[in-house]
Amino acid sequence: MSSELNLILLGPPGAGKGTQAERLTFDFNLPYIATGNILRGAVRDETALGKEAKSYMAKGELVPDSVITGVILEALNSADARDGFLLDGFPRTLPQADALALGLQDADRRLTAVILIDVPDEEVQRRLSGRRVSVKTGRVYHVEFDPPKHEGRCDIDGSRLVQRDDDKPETIAKRLAVYHAETEPLTEYYDARGLLRRFDGTRAPTEVHDHIRATIATLRLEDEL
Ligand code: AMP
Repeated sequence: MSSELNLILLGPPGAGKGTQAERLTFDFNLPYIATGNILRGAVRDETALGKEAKSYMAKGELVPDSVITGVILEALNSADARDGFLLDGFPRTLPQADALALGLQDADRRLTAVILIDVPDEEVQRRLSGRRVSVKTGRVYHVEFDPPKHEGRCDIDGSRLVQRDDDKPETIAKRLAVYHAETEPLTEYYDARGLLRRFDGTRAPTEVHDHIRATIATLRLEDEL
């Protein structure tokens, strides 16, 4: 029996998936595949994928399934991800979940678990609307939870702090609506398959991390027995 860890992170925008992913990829030595990062990179580099995705992303809408699914299946088949992966931001719709299931089945692989980080809408609004990012260094701040020393300026080099387009309140509301309509049904889908593990994302990041890490360690042990 293989003991590869094939994991999905699920949850609304602003749940802290990126923060947890950073820690978990370190703990378990997994490649991190985040569709949001892949797509933002493609937009920045003005590739064909980026050109196709740009307008959807700016509006807080999902890019079409056909655009994103091929990119992800290819990433999962790369040498890097052969012994396990941590997926963030995919699947986001039921057709994407079905495509992933088929792709894994073709490769004789299966999911280990789906980690749901749950956070209520009001908290998402608070977290994302207060987020600011330096135009130069990319360092992320929060006006309430992690403010810079001087308002509107990066601590590192004094560069200007801006709000990401998709962190504007109207776009956050749209992203949340899309999450509830398109992505939340996946919790039932994976629960029915015995794969869903729920975590309370309103807890401190360290506490959320401890819980997830313990769960994954147990799953891996069970798999090896
Ligand atoms: P994220 O950083 O994960 O919130 O993703 C940013 C944006 O990229 C989303 O609002 C979507 O427009 C797009 N996106 C990311 N992942 C997917 C996906 N699996 N399917 C469709 N669109 C996606």
